[in-house]
Amino acid sequence: MTLTFDIRPSTSPTSDQERATRLANPGFGRVFTDHMAVVQYSQDKGWHSARVESRANFPLDPAAAVLHYAQEIFEGLKAYKRDDGGVNLFRPDANAKRFWNSAERMAMAQLPPEVFIEAVERLVQIDRAWIPGGEGSLYLRPFMIANEVFLGVKPSAEYIFAVIASPVGSYFKGGPAPVSIWVSENYTRAAVGGTGGVKCGGNYAASLKAQAEAIAHGCDQVVFLDAIERRYVEELGGMNVFFVFDDGSLSTPPLGTILPGITRDSIIKLARDAGREVREEAYSIDQWRADAKSGKLKEAFACGTAAVISPIGKVCSASGDVLINGGEAGPVAMGLRKQLVDIQYGRSPDPHSWIRDVK
Ligand SMILES: *Cc1c(COP(=O)(O)O)cnc(C)c1O
Repeated sequence: MTLTFDIRPSTSPTSDQERATRLANPGFGRVFTDHMAVVQYSQDKGWHSARVESRANFPLDPAAAVLHYAQEIFEGLKAYKRDDGGVNLFRPDANAKRFWNSAERMAMAQLPPEVFIEAVERLVQIDRAWIPGGEGSLYLRPFMIANEVFLGVKPSAEYIFAVIASPVGSYFKGGPAPVSIWVSENYTRAAVGGTGGVKCGGNYAASLKAQAEAIAHGCDQVVFLDAIERRYVEELGGMNVFFVFDDGSLSTPPLGTILPGITRDSIIKLARDAGREVREEAYSIDQWRADAKSGKLKEAFACGTAAVISPIGKVCSASGDVLINGGEAGPVAMGLRKQLVDIQYGRSPDPHSWIRDVK
C-alpha cells in the first residue's frame, strides 16, 4: 500500500542559532524537532491524511479511547549522522514489523510497514538539521493511539499514528558507566498470554513502581523475574539482558514474555558471526548469583536502542548485592557495543544490510 504524504513545512521553524543552543546539550527526550509525521485511520476510510506538518498538540476528545482503556503502542529507533554528512537509519524495517505485531496484539489497526518507514524517513528528511553530530543521534518515536470517542469497551474504530523526533546526546559521556540493577521480588512485568512481547505504553505504566523501588534502593534499573516461578530473569524495564560466560559463550532469555529487542537480535547475530555460541535459554537469578561468585559468569549487560549496551556492574536485592566483573565494564560488552555503533554510524561494513541510507 502507498499513501502520498502531504509535506507542509513549518512557517515558523526554529532559528539556526536557537537550534544550535538546544543541540548543545540535549539530554534525552526533552528537546523536539519542528515537525511530526501523522497518518490517520478510521474504519470507513482506512489509512488516510498522511502528512508531515508542524509539531503541535493533538485535538483529543476527553472520551478518546486511549485515555480510558490504554490502546497505545510505540516504537523507538534512531537516525545517525555519518562522517560524510549522510544519514543512516538502523533496521527501520524491523521496527515497522514489530509495530505491526504490536497493533495485532492490542487489537489496533495495523499500519503497513512501508507507510511506517516512509513516515519516519520523511520526518528525518525535513528535520535533518536536528541530527546532532558526533556520538549524538536523532531519536525517533513512532506511536499510535486509539481516538474513537466512545466509552464502551471494544477495539477503537479510529487511530492516530504519528512520529516525533528528539535529538539526543551520547547516552554516556566518556564511555558507558556500569549500571546497578535491583531484582524486583514484589512485582512482575509480564505473564504468558499477556502483552510482555509487544511495545505498549501499558507495560511501562506497570513497571514504574518497580523502577521507583530500584531507585529507592540506590539502583539505576530494575530487572524483572518470570511471573510463574519468580526465578527466571526476564529483562529490565526497557532493555533486554545478556550474560557472558568463561567459555566465551553468551546467553539471553528466550522470547515469549520479553520484548523482542532489535538490539538483542543484532547482538545475537554479531556474536554468532564472530563464532561465539549464543543460547536463548532461561537463566535463574540464583544461578546468576552463583555463577558470578564462582567466576563462571564473566559479564552481564543490558541492551536497547537508547543506550545500545550498558554493562551491569552490580545486582542488588533484599538478600544482598553481587558484583559482576568487579563492577567494571567488560571487554565482550564493550567490543559488541563498538561493533554495533560503528555499523550504525556507517564506520564499518554492514554485512546484514541493516542500514537504510536516508536520501
Ligand atoms: C524497546 C524495548 C526494548 C529494547 O528494544 P530495542 O528494539 O532493542 O530498542 C527492551 N525491552 C523493552 C520492554 C522495550 O520496550
